[in-house]
This record gives sequence, C-alpha cells and structure tokens, in this order.
Amino acid sequence: MGLLKRLYRIAHETIFPGRCLVCGCFFKRPNRALESGRGVVGALGVALCAACLKQITQVESPMCSICGLPFASRQGPDHACEKCIRTPGFFSMARSALVYDRVLKRAIHCFKYRGQTELAAPLGKILLAAFQRYWDSQGIDLVAPVPLHPKRMRKRGFNQAYVLLRRWGLPTARRPAERCGPVLQRDLLIRIRYTAPQTTLNRRQRAENIKDAFALTDCDSIRDRTILLVDDVYTSGATAGECARLLLGNGARRVDILTLARAVLPA
Ligand SMILES: [Zn+2]
Ligand SMILES: [Zn+2]
Repeated sequence: MGLLKRLYRIAHETIFPGRCLVCGCFFKRPNRALESGRGVVGALGVALCAACLKQITQVESPMCSICGLPFASRQGPDHACEKCIRTPGFFSMARSALVYDRVLKRAIHCFKYRGQTELAAPLGKILLAAFQRYWDSQGIDLVAPVPLHPKRMRKRGFNQAYVLLRRWGLPTARRPAERCGPVLQRDLLIRIRYTAPQTTLNRRQRAENIKDAFALTDCDSIRDRTILLVDDVYTSGATAGECARLLLGNGARRVDILTLARAVLPA
C-alpha cells in the first residue's frame, strides 16, 4: 500500500471511527488483531465492534449429518437428528456458516432491510468459505438463490441470497469447453405465491404457508443435475424443503442447501 494511501487511511479511521451496526457503539476500525484471530468471520470487523464480533459463532460439528443442526453436546461424531430420522426431507444435505443468534440476527436485519451494503462483501466471503468447507465444487452443477416474491423484491430492491452469491464470481452460463463445476442461475426458481412472513409461524404452519409457493423457469436445465440452493437463514427448513421437493419432482438428481445462518432453537 502506498504511503499516501496509508496516511489517508489512518487519518480517516481516526477522524471517522466506525459505528457498530449491532450495538451502535463507536469503535476504532478495523480491529486487525481480533479479525485475524477469527478467520473469515473477522471480515465482519468492518461493521461490528470487537464485543459484538466475539459473539458471532460458526456452526461446528457435531451436527446433524443431514440438516446440519448443531447438537447441544459438543462431543461425538455427526449423526442424523431425530427430526431427520422421523420425517425425512427432500434435500440431501443442508449446511450453514454461522449460528443465527442475537448479534447475527441484527447484522442480517441491517443487511436486508436497512441497505447496509458494506455487509455484502464480508457475508459473501463467509458464505463462500462454508461452501468450500462442505462441498467439492466440481460436484455441483447449478447454484441458485431461494427467490423472493416480486412484490417483496420490489420493496427490498434486491434478493439477499443472490447479492451474496454474486460475489463468488461463478459463471452464469456453462462455457462449451467446461463439462462440470457450478454455474450460478439466478432465476432457476421463481416465487409464484405471496406468503406471509414465516417468523410468527410454528413448524407445521410454516410448511403449510410455503406449499406450492415456487415454480421452475426451465425444467430441462435441472434434469439429472446436482443443485445447491442458497438462502440467508435456515429456520424450520420448510422453505428449503419445498424448493427441493419441486426440483427433485422435476428430475434434479440431488439438492443440497447452504445458508449463511442457522437457527438453533426449535422453531
Ligand atoms: Zn457492537
Ligand atoms: Zn437433522
């Protein structure tokens, strides 16, 4: 970094300290020592103070080998959880980067509803790190965001999952020479039914609320394909399950789910 640039940065950081998006405190940014100790999560240090950053937790094993729910007991290997054994879903594997707790909830809320777009880069990076951790990218044919209804899209202005995915730099069409590897397909699914927000509903109501809410834009493109669906938060799995049901029913070979955050309390 040039000397002038460095001086400018130091002056800028001194005169304009950061304001934590979660707790609102002013902090000196970036906190490099803390950032480097937190791996990819440290990237959130651009927008969060040290105390809030410390509360962001990555999802770690032991977890459900299918739905990715982290178990309360921190001992033992991954295995299928009770819900996945009792009522098997449609997707093969769901994984999340971070635990959806108070701090992360607030950060995602700022990103989705308050246009805090400086969060897009760090959150996109965290999502990509989770993808690389759990998948061999050559085994995925299509990557697609869970869509919003056009009405919600107009209100918010962007699809949060797509904004994060766009930062991965995936091709949006397969080049003739390439036979494998993921292609980003933004409009693989569309939302055809406007649904009430899922937040106030219980598990059964969520599944009912989301039923038949999606449609496929191009059935041929998914035939015999392995698809990774991406969303911001996994709560009851109802949305992911409904999308997977539609894709598999139309000939997809396998559907996996990746979300930025995972709610841990039973929904
Ligand atoms: Zn804070
Ligand atoms: Zn499970």
